[in-house]
Amino acid sequence: SDAVVLFDGRDLAKWAAMDGSPAKWKLEGGYMEVVPKTGSIQSREHFGDCQLHVEWAAPTEVKGESQGRGNSGVFVLGLYELQVLDCYNNPTYADGTTAAIYGQFPPLVNACRKPGEWQTYDVVWVGPRFEADKLVRPACVTVIHNGLVVHHCTELIGRTTHRQLAPYAPHPPTGPLVLQDHGDLVRYRNIWYRPLTGYDEA
Ligand code: MG
Repeated sequence: SDAVVLFDGRDLAKWAAMDGSPAKWKLEGGYMEVVPKTGSIQSREHFGDCQLHVEWAAPTEVKGESQGRGNSGVFVLGLYELQVLDCYNNPTYADGTTAAIYGQFPPLVNACRKPGEWQTYDVVWVGPRFEADKLVRPACVTVIHNGLVVHHCTELIGRTTHRQLAPYAPHPPTGPLVLQDHGDLVRYRNIWYRPLTGYDEA
């Protein structure tokens, strides 16, 4: 009952393009689908520590390989990417695998379902804490992919970047959830979170 629904398949009212204009992804039969080159989308709602639930599906038509197959991403606070990729019979580099903390931590197991099948991410997110511009505690994340633990209390190294390890840069405790347009026809449905409180003390 304390869940905040961000997407229930009916409309994109709670989502915007990264410039704040209405989200341009396709709404269809209870899900939304990336429209390549329209850009990533962000939730209008900003939130911090949470339990997050996201369902996604890679395109049924298998195209491309490695990072070119069913690529998208779930960015918590818009900064920290939980990789979305079709890694069913599709090897790629370890920390770019489905459900990797992109560029930092591979998942403990490849829990991918077949392309086109709905998959679930259940995430427990406790964000980093800063005092002025100093990091006092890194972000800590637990992720369950299709019912299997793929990260548990994993401490993030910093914000997500490509082919480098970026340090933390101070930011507010809340931010939008961002879904990535990586050019592939990835679908999303049933997105909600529950705010978590009480994690301010180490
Ligand atoms: Mg991605």
